[in-house]
Amino acid sequence: MAATTNPFSVSVSSKPTGGSAFPKPNDSADFFLRVQNPLNTVSLRSSFVSPGSTELSLSRGGGSVTSAKRGARSARIRASLAEVMDQSVAKKDPIAPTTVDVDLGDRSYPIYIGSGLLDQPHLLQRHVHGKRVLVVTNDTVAPLYLNKVVEALTKGNPNVSVESVILPDGEKYKQMDTLMKIFDKAIESRLDRRCTFIALGGGVIGDMCGFAAASFLRGVNFIQIPTTVMAQVDSSVGGKTGINHRLGKNLIGAFYQPQCVLIDTDTLNTLPDRELASGLAEVIKYGLIMDAEFFEWQEKNMQALMARDPSALTYAIKRSCENKAEVVSLDEKESGLRATLNLGHTFGHAIETGFGYGQWLHGEAVAAGTVMAVDMSYRLGWIDDSIVKRARDILQQAKLPTTPPNTMTVEMFKSVMAVDKKVADGLLRLILLKGPLGNCVFTGDYDRKALDETLRAFCKS
Ligand code: NAD
Repeated sequence: MAATTNPFSVSVSSKPTGGSAFPKPNDSADFFLRVQNPLNTVSLRSSFVSPGSTELSLSRGGGSVTSAKRGARSARIRASLAEVMDQSVAKKDPIAPTTVDVDLGDRSYPIYIGSGLLDQPHLLQRHVHGKRVLVVTNDTVAPLYLNKVVEALTKGNPNVSVESVILPDGEKYKQMDTLMKIFDKAIESRLDRRCTFIALGGGVIGDMCGFAAASFLRGVNFIQIPTTVMAQVDSSVGGKTGINHRLGKNLIGAFYQPQCVLIDTDTLNTLPDRELASGLAEVIKYGLIMDAEFFEWQEKNMQALMARDPSALTYAIKRSCENKAEVVSLDEKESGLRATLNLGHTFGHAIETGFGYGQWLHGEAVAAGTVMAVDMSYRLGWIDDSIVKRARDILQQAKLPTTPPNTMTVEMFKSVMAVDKKVADGLLRLILLKGPLGNCVFTGDYDRKALDETLRAFCKS
């Protein structure tokens, strides 16, 4: 199928509350950011509802936005839409990757998605600066894909030399001592400012390697080759990098964008089933918060995704990356709107902390947290019951948990949620669904009774 490119436009405008599609508690001015292409509209609304309480909403689907421009940042998103891979192309001809372009001005970059992309050396080589490369990976992924990546970097390119550093596998190694191993290797190998760091692995490796690239010699070239669904649809897109501190996750880091992200869906063939499902929780999230059409597609194609059908995976990853790229392009450094990508994460984080890290995978905790956030949205009267049912059904189809572990208590949730990063002026802000499917808000302006009721409904004590 021929590639098509649809130009998007972005407008920022203000609009009086009375014209809003959403019920509002008190008078306010709403600020909208709208990304539009001929097929879709994404409206990002920032409503300053009262001092200390900010509501941000995200909706897609052709809602009209009027009024004057206000403080617009020039952001533009281009996506090569629906370059669905043509399976009839003869094997010897490389198949053109599906490409999503993340437009961040001079920090823009492409995301290449498709089956067999590690067999297309030019995709990687065109983004390597200089002659020295450091591949950062771990002891699970290295035996599977390191040789393939080295071959892709060096094939027909004898001038490039590739070093690698193989880190121990696991979230518990996402910390300063392990980061130092990357710097040790880079310094011992006398890498200079023209070198390129490549992250080969899941989100842990991507976050650590990205932070190393951001800080080595004050910033070197960086490429992501994510190999988990979680990393392909979420962590490799948007430039958040970092490590954990013993007092909390991801507390030390930097925003640092890569030169490109290369997603070879074939790498998912070796991913354990639980890890695959965990990543699908984030895919489902995009449908719920901003893309009803994508959610409907997932309802029809979840079995194909679970069976690792390459075309279905390519489409789901592409659409997820487009959604994330849209939000990131409007709020790169998470001043507010980007927080909407955390649906279910506040409840999920409480589960991860209360139940103990490592017991449940991140996406599993997010899945149960999503059901809780959706339940609360319904109790507030912000969505109808069909959305509650559809959210639970699709998560169950993906074999993800839809209730927290039964050892979780209301008090455990409350104590973790009280110190959440999204608490502002003592007010816990949550991402909740509001309106038709595909609309959400980030707000501290909700009836506390609904939160209590949800916690009691999901906890035995
Ligand atoms: P992970 O990196 O720990 O990978 C999960 C497991 O799969 C690991 O054991 C890994 O070695 C293994 N693995 C990776 N690729 C494989 C493959 N192709 N075949 C077989 N095994 C493979 O976990 P994750 O879920 O990918 O990422 C979680 C991390 O991402 C967390 O640290 C989280 O904080 C971070 N994260 C970051 C962002 C961001 O915006 N930067 C967003 C979401 C999550």
